[in-house]
Amino acid sequence: MDDERIKQALRGATDTEDVVIEAGGLSRVGEVFSKNFPGRAAVIVADENTFGVAGEGTRKSLADAGVELREPYVFPGAPTLYAKYSNIETLVEALRGADAVPVAIGSGTLNDIAKRAAYEIGEAYMCVGTAASMDGYTAFGASIEKDGHKQTLTCPAPKVVVGDVDVLVGAPEDMTAAGYADLLGKITSGADWLVADALGLEEIDRDGWSLVQDGLREWVRGPDGLRAGDDEAMDRLTEGLVMSGLSMQSYQSSRTASGAEHQFSHLWEGEGLGRDRNPPLSHGFKVGVASVAIAALYERILERDLSNLDVDSVVAAWPLWEEVEAKVRSLHTMDELEEAAVKQSGAKYVDADGLRARLELLTREWPGLRGRLELQLLSAAEIRDMLASAGCPTSPEEIGLNREEFRATYRRALTIRSRYTILDLANEANILDECVEELFAPGGFWADL
Ligand SMILES: [Zn+2]
Repeated sequence: MDDERIKQALRGATDTEDVVIEAGGLSRVGEVFSKNFPGRAAVIVADENTFGVAGEGTRKSLADAGVELREPYVFPGAPTLYAKYSNIETLVEALRGADAVPVAIGSGTLNDIAKRAAYEIGEAYMCVGTAASMDGYTAFGASIEKDGHKQTLTCPAPKVVVGDVDVLVGAPEDMTAAGYADLLGKITSGADWLVADALGLEEIDRDGWSLVQDGLREWVRGPDGLRAGDDEAMDRLTEGLVMSGLSMQSYQSSRTASGAEHQFSHLWEGEGLGRDRNPPLSHGFKVGVASVAIAALYERILERDLSNLDVDSVVAAWPLWEEVEAKVRSLHTMDELEEAAVKQSGAKYVDADGLRARLELLTREWPGLRGRLELQLLSAAEIRDMLASAGCPTSPEEIGLNREEFRATYRRALTIRSRYTILDLANEANILDECVEELFAPGGFWADL
């Protein structure tokens, strides 16, 4: 673990003040708690599984440090805890009046529930991670199902995060693999930021960029080591996930860590893809397959010389907002998603004059942008192989989608968020449909085998 790198990142973070990731980290929970929450009592929040893994170690460490302990709140271990708002209400009820700092033991869902519940009772909290399964430990906001759809609810990141590498290495293989996929997705999310930057839509922030991208190639190397239980591979993965979360705090937006691959994933999450599996299909596994999809799209686009784009004919074919809105509505089957998509698509729609200016800029910027993208990206085949080595799914079928559904995602995911990505560039340059066509045609990356 590059402690200097994390220390540097913590200086720019708004919520998180301390991160301790090391072998035997559980034994330091008490000391770290006392330093960051002097004189306060603690209340452990876990589910039966995570309590079984790290509950006793955490409790002992807190007690040894003289921290007063309230009765722990432990969710059932089965069925798998789901990130729905009623679980937050239950936890808020249990924690209110305890006058104690929540110490959440768990990973994605448990952390999200505790994060939001802590915020609702007005407490900062501490997280003891049990799996390197996503980059949300050090991120603000909680991904929760409320009013029938998944949404990101406001709440600060934990004040303190502790991870015990011995515990992380022992986590289920699929959880570690999911964390790897979430991290590898920063290859395409970085590319998307380069695109938005070149078109003057969202300038690259040096700090926010560096925190994720400077170490990325190093963090994602040797994915087979994760399956072999290699401590160093786990150390690299955990550092990458922690840094990714801190980058979002520093930049105050998920732009640093989330691009078109996350839009695929969020669409599938919103539609409940794989929720009926046991355990449910993870965020990371969706992001992984989506990263392959986006890298494959980039390959089609990079083959083209967009500096020669026929701007007049593209602008002439550009639809009015009313047409776009009708199309967006036709692409969704769930009311909540449809309304959200209309809003998000409307926020990024430009009229014909706006499009002309943007495309003229694109033609001028393309040679430089293409060079930067080629440096940033890995090929779709490389990403697929790295994911496979880590034990992640890499095809639509493995996550429960047939080719037609998967193909439709390219256009559908474009609509659900106003954040500018390669999907927007392709759409605005009027090459999205032809590129997707090429991907699924014989010889294309997604050709039926
Ligand atoms: Zn993610």
